[in-house]
Amino acid sequence: MSASLETGINVLKEVIDAPIASYFASCVHCGMCAEACLFYTETGDPKYTPIHKLEPLRRIYKQEFTVLGRLAKLIGLSKAVTDDELEEWKELVYNSCTLCGRCSLICPVGNDIVYMVRKFREGMARAGHAPQDIVNATRRTIDIGSPMGVKLPAVKAQMGHLLAETGLEAPLDKEGAEYMVLLSSMEIINFPEYLAAIAKIMKQAGKTWTLCSTAFEATNSGIQVGVSDLAKVIVSRIVEGAERLKVKTVISPECGHAYTALRWDGANLIGRPYNFEVKHILEVLDEFRTQGLLKTEGMEEDRLTFHDPCQLVRRGGVIDQPRTLMNTVAKNFVEMPDPGKLNWCCGGGGGSSAIEDNKDLRLEVFKRKKSQFEAVKPDRVVTACANCRTTLEEGLEHYQMDIPVVGLTEVIAEHLAKPAQTKS
Ligand code: SF4
Ligand code: SF4
Repeated sequence: MSASLETGINVLKEVIDAPIASYFASCVHCGMCAEACLFYTETGDPKYTPIHKLEPLRRIYKQEFTVLGRLAKLIGLSKAVTDDELEEWKELVYNSCTLCGRCSLICPVGNDIVYMVRKFREGMARAGHAPQDIVNATRRTIDIGSPMGVKLPAVKAQMGHLLAETGLEAPLDKEGAEYMVLLSSMEIINFPEYLAAIAKIMKQAGKTWTLCSTAFEATNSGIQVGVSDLAKVIVSRIVEGAERLKVKTVISPECGHAYTALRWDGANLIGRPYNFEVKHILEVLDEFRTQGLLKTEGMEEDRLTFHDPCQLVRRGGVIDQPRTLMNTVAKNFVEMPDPGKLNWCCGGGGGSSAIEDNKDLRLEVFKRKKSQFEAVKPDRVVTACANCRTTLEEGLEHYQMDIPVVGLTEVIAEHLAKPAQTKS
C-alpha cells in the first residue's frame, strides 16, 4: 500500500463519525436519491446514484465498524479499497457531484449525502485522488489569495473604474465600517457590475462599507477539494480582516459555496464563534427593503425567471428573499418548474466548473436546466451566484439559447430610485 493511500484510508476511517455510520446503517436502498440527482436523471447511468458515489466509504465503514464486515474482510469476501478504485471514484466524488443537496432533501430516512460526500473528499484529497484543477485553485488561494490568481491590484483597478464611471468610491480598509464586502474572483474579473451595484445601493441606504486589502476574496476551494486545514486558512483570513476592521457584518457575495463556507462551516473550522455577522447579499438587500432603505422605481417589462443557487436555497434557506426582491422590480417574474428548495443545480457547483475536462458531462446534465428554461421561456435569467451565472452562460451558449443571465443585485441597482425621489 502506498503511503498516500494509507494516509487517505486512515483519514476515511477517521471521518466515519456517528452521523455517517447512522446514514449507512439506515439506508433502505430505495433509490429515491437517484431520481433527485441530475447526473442520474440526465444520463440514466446508475453509477451516478448518489449513495453509490460513496461505495468505497461504505465498504470501509462495514469493514471497520460492523461485525459482519470485519468477518467478511477476514475471510477475503470483502476486498480492501485500492488506489485504482479511488482513482476510478474520483469522477463520482468530484466531477459528478456538485454538492447541490437535492438528494439529501429527498432521502426518506434523512441521509445527508452531501455531508458524506464532503467527508469522502477529505480522504480522497489526502490519498492524492482529488482533481488537479481544484487542487491548483486551492493552492493559488493559499499562495496568492484567490483561486483565479487575482491580486489586490486587480481589485484596485476595478475600484478605479468604478470611480471613473460612476463617481462613487469603493472604500478600502475603512475601520469601523458597518459592512465588509467580499467579492469572488469571477466578480472581479468577469462581473465588475456587482461592485458598482453595491456602491450604488450602499449610497442610497446610507450605510458605511469597506473592502479589505487582506481579505477581498470570498471563494473557498478548500471546502470543494475537501481539505479542512486549507479551508480553515482561507476562512481565517476573512475573520482576521473583519476583526481588524471592526466591522459588524461581512457580506458574502453572489457566490453559493462561499456563503456555505463562511456562514455555516467557518466558525467550526476556526474553532470559535465570530464576533461579527455573516449575511448573503440578498439577505442584506431584503433587510434594507424592510427597513425602507431600498427604494426602487420602474418595473422590468421583460419576462424574468430566477435560478436558485443550491447553496443558498437548499443549504442556506435563502428562499423568500430573492422572490420578494424579484417581485419588487419585475412585473413578469415567472417561476420555473420545481422552484425554490427543489430547484435543479446548474451543474457547475462543488468544484465541477473548475474541472477543465468535465465540460462534456456538465453540458450533458445541463439538459435539465434547459428543459426548465423551455418550460417558461424567459427573456432573461436572474441568479445570485457568479459560478451559476458562468455555468448557465456556458450551457445556454452550447444549446444555442439566446437568453442573457444577470445577477439580482445588479438588477436591483438598475432600479434604484433617483435621489430626488427618495426625499420623503
Ligand atoms: S434515498 Fe436515502 S435511503 Fe434511499 S437509497 Fe438513497 S440514501 Fe438510501
Ligand atoms: S449532492 Fe446533488 S449532485 Fe451530488 S449526488 Fe446529491 S443530487 Fe447528485
